[in-house]
Amino acid sequence: MHSTTSGGAISAGTPEQVVTPPIEGLIGRVVVDTTCKRVGRVMGNEGPKYQLRPLRGGREWEVSLRNIEVLPTRADCPQCVGIKTARSRANDEGRTNDVSFLTAALGRHQRSAHS
Ligand SMILES: [Zn+2]
Repeated sequence: MHSTTSGGAISAGTPEQVVTPPIEGLIGRVVVDTTCKRVGRVMGNEGPKYQLRPLRGGREWEVSLRNIEVLPTRADCPQCVGIKTARSRANDEGRTNDVSFLTAALGRHQRSAHS
């Protein structure tokens, strides 16, 4: 039996969806070590272990892949996507006041959520 649903729409918009990028995609990402709740950037991996470095620098530590929780980046942050979508719609419709408002809102959000 063939599925005729359009591809790529699997559980889109489910906030609790676990992000499991390909292994090589983890390098450079900011993640949480769920065993100790520390946040770090993935520097590399050896076998099943990944080396994380604290965002403010310091000694690296190792964590197993299953204990890594990937944090959203700007590219897949729902708030960033929502604001950008609204801004491009406002732009398409010529609502320049809304475009400036949303640009400022995006800047404020990124400073508080991603810096
Ligand atoms: Zn964001």
